[in-house]
This record gives sequence, C-alpha cells and structure tokens, in this order.
Amino acid sequence: MFINNEYIEGLLEEAKSSTDQEITAILDKAEAYQGLTHHEVASLLMTEKKEHLERIFHIAGKIKEHIYGNRIVMFAPLYVSDYCVNRCKYCGYKCDHKFPRRRLTMDEIREEVKILEKMGHKRLALEAGEDPVHCPIDYILDCIRTIYEMKLEKGEIRRVNVNIAATTVENYRKLKEMGIGTYILFQETYHQPTYEEVHLSGPKKDYEYHLTAFDRAMAGGIDDVGGGVLFGLYDPYFEVLGLMLHNEHLEKEYGVGFHTISMPRLCQAAGADLSAFKYLVDDETFKKLVAIIRLAVPFTGMIISTRETPQMRKELIKIGISQVSAGSTVEVGGYSAREQSWAQFQVADDRNAMDILSWLMDEGLVPSFCTACYRKGRTGDRFMSLAKSGNIKNVCHPNALMTLCEYMLDYGDASFQEKAENLIQKEITKIENEKIRQLVADNIVRMKHGERDLFI
Ligand code: SAM
Repeated sequence: MFINNEYIEGLLEEAKSSTDQEITAILDKAEAYQGLTHHEVASLLMTEKKEHLERIFHIAGKIKEHIYGNRIVMFAPLYVSDYCVNRCKYCGYKCDHKFPRRRLTMDEIREEVKILEKMGHKRLALEAGEDPVHCPIDYILDCIRTIYEMKLEKGEIRRVNVNIAATTVENYRKLKEMGIGTYILFQETYHQPTYEEVHLSGPKKDYEYHLTAFDRAMAGGIDDVGGGVLFGLYDPYFEVLGLMLHNEHLEKEYGVGFHTISMPRLCQAAGADLSAFKYLVDDETFKKLVAIIRLAVPFTGMIISTRETPQMRKELIKIGISQVSAGSTVEVGGYSAREQSWAQFQVADDRNAMDILSWLMDEGLVPSFCTACYRKGRTGDRFMSLAKSGNIKNVCHPNALMTLCEYMLDYGDASFQEKAENLIQKEITKIENEKIRQLVADNIVRMKHGERDLFI
C-alpha cells in the first residue's frame, strides 16, 4: 500500500533534523516551480524557523502569481441527497443523527439549478451522502443528466464535478460517460487508526477501499481526480504527507496526479461535537499547510469552500488557493429554502455570489467561470502538460476575462458592470500574445452583441 503509518511518522521524525542549508536548497527548488518530493515536503513541514516560514509564504505567493495569475475559479456545491448509511463522527449526515432526510426529485433539482444559474454559476460540485438504496448510482446519473440538459434563459451549468462516496470501476465508468468534470473524494484522514476510529460503521469504514477509490476511478476512465483530507481529524503534517504520497502514487501509476486538492477544515455540525477532536488546525498552521502544498504541487488547483471566513479566504487566495465556492448552501434543497437547517456543517462565508465576486475584484482578482479545459478535452495529463509548459496563461486568462464579461452582462448590476468592465479592459492589455489579445477583444464585442459561451 502506498500509505504506511510508520513510514510517514519516520519521515516526520527524520525531517526534524533538516539543516538550514537543506531547507534553503528545497526552497530554491520550489522557487524554480519544480515541485517537491514528499521527503522535501516533510522538511518544510517540520521547520518552525521564522526566516524559513517567511520564505515559504513568499514563494507560495510567487508561484500562485506566476502559474495562476490573478484568476480565481468560481463554483457552487449542490447537495442532492442527505441519506447516509455511514456513521462518521464528524459529519451532520451520520446515520444516527435523526432529522428528516430527503433527496431531491428531478423537478427540485431543476429549481435548485435555476437559482444557481441566476447567481451566474457554470460549475457545480454535486454532493451526496452514501446510501445505495435511497441514493443509488442511477439516481446520481439522473441528476447529472438533468443538470446538463437544462438550458436557461441566460446560461447553463457547463461542468458538473462529483463528490460522492467511493464506488466501483463500473460506476466510475458510468460517471465518466455522463460527462462529469472532476471526481472529488476526500480521504478524510490518511492515518488508518484514526480513520477507523472516526468512521464508526458503514461501507466508508473500509480504509483501503476508500484509499484506492481513485485507482478505480482511473480504471473507469476518469483522469481528473480531486483529493483532500478533512483537517482536524489527525496531525495535519501527517495528512499533508499522506496527500503527497497519494499524489506520487497516482503520478507513477497513471501519469497524472491530483487535478485539485481541496482544503476542508472541520466545522461545527449538528450532531458532531468539535470538542471531541484533538487535532483542530489553527489559522497560522492552516496557512502554512496551504503554502507548502502550493510549493509541492504547483500545477494542482487548490480549493477552499465557504467553510472558511472571508478574511481567511482572502489570505489563502494570496498563497495558493485557485478555486472558491460562492453563495453556497450545504443543505439538500438549500438554495430553494435557505431557512432550512439540516446542513452537513455550518458555513463561515454566507455572502451572496455577486458580493463575493465584487469583493474579489476589489482585491485585484479576476473571478473566472471558465469550464473550457474539460470541454476541449484538456483533462488528465493533457491539462498537466499544458500547465507545466507555462502556456496555461494564454488560455486561462483570456477565458477568465470572457466568462467575467458574460457574467457582468447577464447578472451584474450597474456598479458591478462598471467595476468589471474596468478590470477587463485593464486585464486584456496583459495578454502577451497579440492574436489572442485581439481575439478576446473581438469576442467581448460579440458578447456585448448577444453571443455567449465563447472560449478558447
Ligand atoms: N458521501 C461522500 C463521501 O463519503 O465521501 C461525499 C462526502 S460529503 C458530501 C463532502 C465532505 O464533507 C466529506 O468528505 C467531509 O470531508 C466533509 N465534511 C463532513 N462533515 C464535515 C464537518 N463537520 N466539517 C467540515 N467538513 C465536513
């Protein structure tokens, strides 16, 4: 197995004796955008020296700027079913937490998607608890089909990422055929004894089955997979090394590692008492984790959700986060009835989508609704080689500007439109390739005349 507790503990122990000279060499390598091995990551995790930490944050900001520019990709979660047969200590959906459970009908899905579309969203993360009877794979496939079939007055959902329980190769193949974007699954914790302790019962209790889910997803043809751990369950340094080893395993076996890494931190949830968790991660440590992962896997997108406060989101975006959710609810049917309270956990950023976009622009960032890569077949190693060649900015930056223009025209009020227009005009001049710069300028005119969904 590619995860071994003793091995990770040994790495962390050994890394305590890394010399200043070794750490400087590791940081020099990271600064050259070369990524890091798990050994090197261990050394950075164990350093507490102020000068090293300052340099880690500085390089993380530099990598973010160099590879992702000032773009930030927007998405929203869509919870379709809260039935769950698992008993996970930390989760509001655990089966012994009594509340009226439900799954959305296809009509209710359409209602939710209409609201999401009105917020301007183009990219969803479909979320569900695990229940083979109430929420079988055919139901999930129906949800995705329903979402993709919807063409609304101004727009449509163009990419559905899926975060559902570990499943079989056959089911992954069905998801692939349905045209999903990324398959997301959080390992929760890589530490097997903790994993078994917090997953009290249900199919999710099987550590190895959960850990090998991406191998089955790859076998089923899904080449964009998104990992993550739930920070707060176990030693965060152990978890980061778990992520790195998992990523290296995928790279070795399938030629491509994580497309994204999500960074969820444990939040208060109805039915889950946070005081029972000894490893809650404080803000400073959390920033260090984000920055080190940014150094280690510079081309892997990093995601945070509304679990984080606006202030934390602002700081984390500067040091590595490339995707954020906006205007989210984490309840089944929650967009249609925001007052319901059967959430999986409590969110910390409840501003509406336009306010979040406006705030991002005030921060000098370009909110992007781009879904072009996956629609152009730039997935898996094809995406990674584009990213590594440095050409990504000739594609992503123009697409970000065009999707922001589309959002501004379709959903923005007057003050938003003015702000976005100024930003777009300023950002167009930064496109180095003259042909692409002209194409974007032309496409923006075409969109102002009513055309939509223009991308490269
Ligand atoms: N049922 C699927 C599974 O088992 O992986 C989908 C998971 S759920 C819809 C999405 C994620 O929410 C979980 O993987 C977990 O990490 C996270 N989550 C659960 N309880 C949480 C809490 N109290 N605070 C923060 N995140 C939580």
